[in-house]
Amino acid sequence: MTDMSYLDGNVLDGPLRELFAVDLSAATGRCESCGTTGPMAGMRVYPHAPGLVARCPACTNVMLRLVRAPDRAWLDLRGATFLQVPMPADQPYPRPL
Ligand SMILES: [Zn+2]
Repeated sequence: MTDMSYLDGNVLDGPLRELFAVDLSAATGRCESCGTTGPMAGMRVYPHAPGLVARCPACTNVMLRLVRAPDRAWLDLRGATFLQVPMPADQPYPRPL
């Protein structure tokens, strides 16, 4: 018998494509280390690492790392509890399958 309680990761493609297509400058993130919540624009970004490193303005915990290569990118959000992204209210909310 097949376990039908989950779907494969392909179902994430549409919702994540929608999420990453919006303007993230208004997104809000919460620092995993100290709990400070604030706009992405408030992070301190250090561009001289092998990529971009964004730190919490309150405790300097690394909240985001973004490394870009010619054919791919790596996004590491381990230092953030969440990233809240404003979505256009006039678009239909995609329902899970
Ligand atoms: Zn912090």
